[in-house]
Amino acid sequence: MKKRTIIEPFKIKMVEPLTFLTRDERKRVIDEAGNNLFLIKSEHVTFDFLTDSGTTAMSAAQWGAMMVADESYAGSRSFERFRATVEKVMGFSHVIPTHQGRAAERVFFGQLVKSGHKIPSNNHFDTTRANIEFLGAEAVDLVVEEGKDPANPAPFKGNLDPVKLEKFCAENRGKIPIGMITITNNTGGGQPVSMENLRQVASIYKKYGIPFIIDACRFAENSMFIKTREAEMGSRTVASIARETFDFADGCLMSAKKDAMSNIGGFIALRDDRWLADLRNLLILTEGFPTYGGLAARDLEGMAVGLIEVLDENYLTYRLAVSSYFSEQLNRIGIPTMRPAGGHAVYIDAKAFLPHIPPEQFPGQALAVELYLAEGVRSCEIGSAMFGKFTTESSGAKKFVPAAMELVRLAFPRRVYTQSQFDYIIEGFEEIALNKDRIRGLKLVYDPPYLRHFTARFA
Ligand SMILES: *Cc1c(COP(=O)(O)O)cnc(C)c1O
Repeated sequence: MKKRTIIEPFKIKMVEPLTFLTRDERKRVIDEAGNNLFLIKSEHVTFDFLTDSGTTAMSAAQWGAMMVADESYAGSRSFERFRATVEKVMGFSHVIPTHQGRAAERVFFGQLVKSGHKIPSNNHFDTTRANIEFLGAEAVDLVVEEGKDPANPAPFKGNLDPVKLEKFCAENRGKIPIGMITITNNTGGGQPVSMENLRQVASIYKKYGIPFIIDACRFAENSMFIKTREAEMGSRTVASIARETFDFADGCLMSAKKDAMSNIGGFIALRDDRWLADLRNLLILTEGFPTYGGLAARDLEGMAVGLIEVLDENYLTYRLAVSSYFSEQLNRIGIPTMRPAGGHAVYIDAKAFLPHIPPEQFPGQALAVELYLAEGVRSCEIGSAMFGKFTTESSGAKKFVPAAMELVRLAFPRRVYTQSQFDYIIEGFEEIALNKDRIRGLKLVYDPPYLRHFTARFA
């Protein structure tokens, strides 16, 4: 019999108690933090959905492998085990470890990207974009149109638009040192890219002689979406889908804090050795020797085990069920979300949910604060608190330009929370939905010059 209930496919042998504060205690905490959830301590949070990055619960097998790691400075056997695993899963034999994803980006782009270059992708993640722009190049987003519409339930909203890409490559000959795609499309809400799109994108890059590099942070989640949503993929194993994904590419950049199920780590993986010597020289400058790259050998062991565990289809069924279940439950109680749910996160549409709060009073931030007060949930506003701008008009008057969307992101750590905990949270959200008219807007009282969301204060 096929069961209706999708369960956590693991036993739990190490636990950490949840902390519960009263609403009054939380009120004191959030007041002191200027209504900014980045400024509160994790010990004051009950359910931490700030990010899925590096927050994974590692397995007994990962911890076990870490205990027998070979911490030799050069030629460690842990490096060889890690390298061989990357080759087995992705087919790339040349592997350069880094301390996390953005270090892989900095080393790789530092070698290949020059001022005046343009790098296309579906959507660049923010550290990817920042590392490209830092070199004086342009990061260009060419996601399909449906990827920009939060209500459109299309199955592969992370796809890179092949028509736009063809035109872009034809118009920018000689300026594109590499072409990219992000799987899943984090900036676009964790939406997947189809195998058909990967094939099209690879052939366009090939036609123009552009090396194809995948930002592979959530490659296993993307492969599971392909298995469940794309025609003729249902009978394939996720491992073979993942392998075919990488077969289209010349290499990948990876943050191991996502689908390598690790708390830290990253890598560059490449099919051939054309850039290898130069990349290793850059690596030695800031990350370390090529067989550890800014990590301990035990981290390499953890990643090697994680890269295999993440392809377990029971795990991936449960993983994708977390966000789809959570978003269905939110929609059931009248809380609108971006559709369909992404792989690692659910995005609440705060503009639609709280129409009585205008953008200049930060409806997303107001909702994030209420989710904390009511439930001890830490989420992340992705709206006008993060991206809104103040401009001065010719008359001298100050004007607020809001973000295009007012979203609150709940990103789910891997293997950390259970279904009954999600049901408990949803119960509390029902209360919030009933009394949403009482939620009040916020006023920005400290506006830092850079990256407002990390340090801003609101009243
Ligand atoms: C997290 C992430 C990165 C950067 O990785 P870090 O390990 O956080 O430095 C790059 N691209 C995508 C798509 C990511 O999700």
